Amino acid sequence: QAKMAGKNCYRYYSRAMDHAVERRVHMEQELRGAWERGELRLAYQPIFRTRDRRLVGAEALLRWQHPALGTIPPSVFIDVAEQSGLIEVIGPKVLRAACMEAAQWPRSVDGEGLFVSVNVSPRQLRGGELPSLVAQCLLESGLPAARLHLELTETAVIGDELLAAQLLDKLHRTGVKVWLDDFGTGFSGLSHLRQVPVDGVKIDKSFVADMQRDPDDLALTTAIIAMAHALGITVVAEGIEQQAQFDLLCQRGCDLAQGYWLSRPVTATTIVQMIEKGDGGD
Ligand code: C2E
Ligand code: MG
Ligand code: MG
Ligand code: MG
Repeated sequence: QAKMAGKNCYRYYSRAMDHAVERRVHMEQELRGAWERGELRLAYQPIFRTRDRRLVGAEALLRWQHPALGTIPPSVFIDVAEQSGLIEVIGPKVLRAACMEAAQWPRSVDGEGLFVSVNVSPRQLRGGELPSLVAQCLLESGLPAARLHLELTETAVIGDELLAAQLLDKLHRTGVKVWLDDFGTGFSGLSHLRQVPVDGVKIDKSFVADMQRDPDDLALTTAIIAMAHALGITVVAEGIEQQAQFDLLCQRGCDLAQGYWLSRPVTATTIVQMIEKGDGGD
């Protein structure tokens, strides 16, 4: 009896799994030619300096508009791209496109060049080709190295600290800046920042979201800012949805800010208009 139930159970899960696997395989096939078909585009989310709320840069965020499946969020397709290895094909295209587009951006109203921040998947760090790819993209696009930031996740740089430190060293030699994305959600913690020399940390939006309710999150955010500054590291807060959050982060000395309250991700055309206008947020 139990065996029968087990068997049915197995069959049930197996079918459900088949379905999920099928969907993933289908998505993977569609994703394979998506760039060439022009279905993948970069959106840019403005990043502001807290001090004067000046637009200082933008994060490139990949968007997939599929003719039949509709808009597929990165939380779904980036995962598929990572699991399948496709990210090793798409990642370099994203980097190249972001450099090309940012190289065409006008200067800000106060004459500064804005940075573009590009997400790099852990898988793109394998094989050690990233530093030469970065150098090549900078050369091709003419984008000054100081205007390119790479966002790596914490998980990508934990484990083999020595390897991570070597990689960061090579990246730094190209002149780009490296930020740790979703900071605080991994297991590396603050002590890790000593071993892995990054230029900035992006406080994860879950901290920002809970900061006002949860004293622990506020304490952690405050500690991250203080510690990062003690180490000479820039602090960016992401996921700011309310003025109260922005104000709190300003008080705590957070350097840069990003979130729906300041601006949603916008098109490549709109970011240029925002730069030209010297958009101060809102
Ligand atoms: P992320 O790098 O942490 O990017 C920030 C995400 O937070 C973006 O989601 C952005 O739209 C969203 N966001 C910004 N402000 C707010 C806010 O105020 N509230 C809330 N709730 N969300 C906000 P998105 O564009 O859906 O991207 C999700 C993730 O997908 C990114 O997280 C990143 O890990 C990944 N991703 C996106 N584009 C790329 C890419 O080109 N390459 C790689 N490897 N990953 C990418
Ligand atoms: Mg990011
Ligand atoms: Mg993040
Ligand atoms: Mg992320």
